[in-house]
Amino acid sequence: MSERKKIVLLGATGSIGENTLKVISGHPDKLELVGIAAHSKIKKLAKIAREFNVQHVACFDEHAGKEARSNGDFSADTKFYNGLKGLSEIASLPEADLVVAAVVGTTGLKPVLAAIEAGKDIALANKEILVLAGKFVMAAAKKHDVNILPLDSEHDAIFQCLNGEKKKEVKKLILTASGGSFRERPFETLSQVTPEEALSHPNWNMGKKITVDCSTMANKGLEIIEAHWLFDVRPEQIEVVIHPQSIVHSMVEFVDGSIIAQLSPPSMTFAIQHILLHPDRHPGVEATLDFSQTLSLEFNPPDLKRFPCFALARQALETGGTAPAIFNAANEVAVSAFLANKIGFLQIAAIIDKTMKNLKSIEPLSLDEVLLADTEARKTAKSFI
Ligand code: NDP
Ligand code: MG
Repeated sequence: MSERKKIVLLGATGSIGENTLKVISGHPDKLELVGIAAHSKIKKLAKIAREFNVQHVACFDEHAGKEARSNGDFSADTKFYNGLKGLSEIASLPEADLVVAAVVGTTGLKPVLAAIEAGKDIALANKEILVLAGKFVMAAAKKHDVNILPLDSEHDAIFQCLNGEKKKEVKKLILTASGGSFRERPFETLSQVTPEEALSHPNWNMGKKITVDCSTMANKGLEIIEAHWLFDVRPEQIEVVIHPQSIVHSMVEFVDGSIIAQLSPPSMTFAIQHILLHPDRHPGVEATLDFSQTLSLEFNPPDLKRFPCFALARQALETGGTAPAIFNAANEVAVSAFLANKIGFLQIAAIIDKTMKNLKSIEPLSLDEVLLADTEARKTAKSFI
């Protein structure tokens, strides 16, 4: 057997985690899982560890970690890692080639930086990290000569569309958005949206936070900021279009007016496989598009009145400095309050707006300054709940 790519999967028990495992299972001769991490779902981690014969297992939650060591669900030679330090250790395992960052929120920042410093390539699903600290993450990647490969369907699409093209000939990136669950819901009724309604996405089956982010379009806001860092383009070069079918994952327009798009069914395994096997291509693990059936693709401009979170993210991107970090922190706080039934759906945007108005953006000179802005924004956002 030729040398397999060795993978550490942070967020193994989540939605991206599951899809990544599907891809790894489909290519046992090319991919090998060497480390897994999650917050606290140890039963699920134990099942994955047994199925993929994984020796290195990390739990963020120290209590769950202790339980895992003692409950006998793992094989005797399992090596356990604990807490944020444990996540950073597993992300820099000497044998790893690629770290899949699929933890939700900003917890993944330190582990991803540790992996970069250890010279590992990163497959980045965890977009909040770039929104929080894109300047420092991209600088570290450059310094240590590692690749940040985009494991978000839109950004993987753009990555594919840009292949072999000249950067100076790119006019704009066009990110598609499904429009989430409430694209067509009467505007007057949005104030009554419940968490259950926001958690049912028409096209994608994802974790809770990102599903709510899709329904407010904060997700697309995070993604334009992510695109800015990944592809080094100016804010005004990034456009968003609503595409309800989620089949065209994104497009790039070049200076001559040609637009190149990437299409595949709405399942993350396509993007994940492309990134994990990059630069090679092999048959995928799911059915592909079927053009023997009628397929209609529709594109509409986003209605910014309906999606104020998106407009606020764009404002944060244009302001720059710590504004995206403030946007992201306020959004995380507001979404968890909404999921806990503490605030209404429309208050998510209102809280982000108030937090952004209350705090001044600065150009951060160090990672500590970004983390301080994040902490301050969380505190401010919480005070509005
Ligand atoms: P899920 O909520 O489904 O899964 C989150 C994962 O992160 C779980 O494995 C969870 O562990 C783990 N986790 C949460 N907190 C911590 C922590 N403090 N330390 C260690 N692990 C932790 O989320 P998704 O898979 O949907 O999303 C993950 C990331 O990928 C997000 O940043 C999201 O924006 C991005 N993304 C997701 C897409 C999707 O299709 N789902 C598409 C594109 C990007 P446990 O189970 O133990 O709680
Ligand atoms: Mg996406």
